[in-house]
Amino acid sequence: PFDLTGKRVWVAGHRGLVGGAVVRRLAREDCAVLCVGREDLDLTRQQAVEAWMEANRPDAVVMAAALVGGIKANDRRSAEFIHQNLAVQTNIIHAAWQAGVGKVLFLGSSCIYPRDVAQPMREDALLSGPLEPTNQWYAIAKIAGIRMAQAYRRQYGCDYISAMPTNLYGPGDNFDLDGGHVLPALLRKIHEAKVEGRGEVVLWGSGAPLREFLYVDDLADALVFLLKAYSADDHINVGSGEEITIKALAETIAGVVGYEGRFVFDTTMPDGTPRKLMDSGRLAALGWRPATDLRSGIAATYRWFLDNAERLR
Ligand code: GDP
Repeated sequence: PFDLTGKRVWVAGHRGLVGGAVVRRLAREDCAVLCVGREDLDLTRQQAVEAWMEANRPDAVVMAAALVGGIKANDRRSAEFIHQNLAVQTNIIHAAWQAGVGKVLFLGSSCIYPRDVAQPMREDALLSGPLEPTNQWYAIAKIAGIRMAQAYRRQYGCDYISAMPTNLYGPGDNFDLDGGHVLPALLRKIHEAKVEGRGEVVLWGSGAPLREFLYVDDLADALVFLLKAYSADDHINVGSGEEITIKALAETIAGVVGYEGRFVFDTTMPDGTPRKLMDSGRLAALGWRPATDLRSGIAATYRWFLDNAERLR
């Protein structure tokens, strides 16, 4: 077990959806949280990352810094997704080893698993088949990160671990319609349709794909749990077990927002993978479970959206 008491924990990516939630959660632990903004440290620059790590000497690092986005951003910005993610994660893991950082938690995503894999997806399904093409660039980078953490454990004995969260949402999300993920995009589209009195909202794809969603504060709780309790070669899934079609998701959001119009489907836009439900049985066996159901999580996210409408990303 890794004791957080009195430790210095660097949350890389503290302004993002996940990093912000991890900072909130770590405030309840007896540890010091280190953060550095991109104006002071460019994580794609190896020497800068090494110098920062050397100067600040964290005891642990939570790697929540990544270039992330929804299906359209992943599909259109393939070079940026593979380059930035490979660079940032490589720089942090290597600099952490050089500086003797005791614990590193690398974060991936459910898209690391093959497109046509048995559902729910188990950890050992990694690299058992071809990836979903729309987000393969991001997925390849994340798979490399898992293997890198394993390699540093194997060769150097580092306690570096990897967690794979399912689709996330919550306060601090990216509500950009082009670049964001489906849940915040639909929340915003449906809210705006209500405010503007429009009778229909356009959804991308067929509405049939199934997605699993986890509230980001639940993820942060799981990550702190894993930081303390998990030390193993294998990556570990972090999901909610709650799966829903895109169409039913839109209807649930409409219920929260109070929108009564209808949904139309733009089938010129991609569906992506038909289903991605994680098997989070290993995490459950360790004793962790999520606390927030989808409807309550959407309601909390909608409140945050309304309160922060002025300064959305
Ligand atoms: P994915 O889970 O990696 O595929 O990425 P997303 O979070 O972007 O979810 C994409 C799924 O939601 C696909 O099936 C899309 O066709 C569907 N979808 C429907 N409307 C939207 C939308 O407005 N934005 C996004 N990002 N996806 C949408």
